[in-house]
Amino acid sequence: MNLHAMKPSTQHIDMFPAAWLERQQRRAQSDVPEVWDMLDQVKDPEVPALSLWDLGVLCDIEKKADGKLIVTITPTYSGCPAMEAMRQDIDKVLHQAGFVECEIKTQLSPAWSTDWMSPQGKEQLRAFGIAPPMPCTHRHDLPAPEGGMACPHCQSENTQLVSEFGSTACKALYKCQDCYEPFDYFKAI
Ligand SMILES: [Zn+2]
Repeated sequence: MNLHAMKPSTQHIDMFPAAWLERQQRRAQSDVPEVWDMLDQVKDPEVPALSLWDLGVLCDIEKKADGKLIVTITPTYSGCPAMEAMRQDIDKVLHQAGFVECEIKTQLSPAWSTDWMSPQGKEQLRAFGIAPPMPCTHRHDLPAPEGGMACPHCQSENTQLVSEFGSTACKALYKCQDCYEPFDYFKAI
C-alpha cells in the first residue's frame, strides 16, 4: 500500500482539521439548529467579528425532554477573562429568545484547540489584522524568525518574530518587513 499517495494534500489539512469537521457535523445533526443560529450573535469580546461558534468555544447544545436547554462551552485558555462575558452573553440571548430553563456547562476535556476554529473564523482573524493559527500538525514551534508567517495586512511572508508574547499570552508579536506593520499571530494550541 502506498501510504504517501493516500495522504491528503497539505492545503486540505490546513482548511479542514478533523476537529473542525467533527464540530461541523455535531451542529448539522443537532435537533435545535435554530438555537445554534441564535448563538451565532454571541461574539468574542476580544475579536468582535468572531462568534463563539467560529472561535470553537461553543461545543454542544442539547434540549432535554422537559424543554431545558443545555449549552456546553469549552474555554480557550484557562483563566481567559473573556469567558465570563461570553457566558453572560449566551444567557442573555437565550433568555431574550424565551428560553427560561437553560444551563451553561463548562467542559474542560477535551481541551480546546485552535483546530476547532472555523475556516471562516480564521479568515475573520486575518481581516482583523491577526495572523490565524496554523493547524496543530504544524505547531511544534513558532515559525522561524526569518519569516514564513504571512502578514495579515499585505500577505508578504517577509516577516520577523519580535516577541513570543503579543498583546496577550496566546499571541506572538511579528513585524512585517514589507509594509512595516506589526501584527499578532494567534498561536496554535
Ligand atoms: Zn505586511
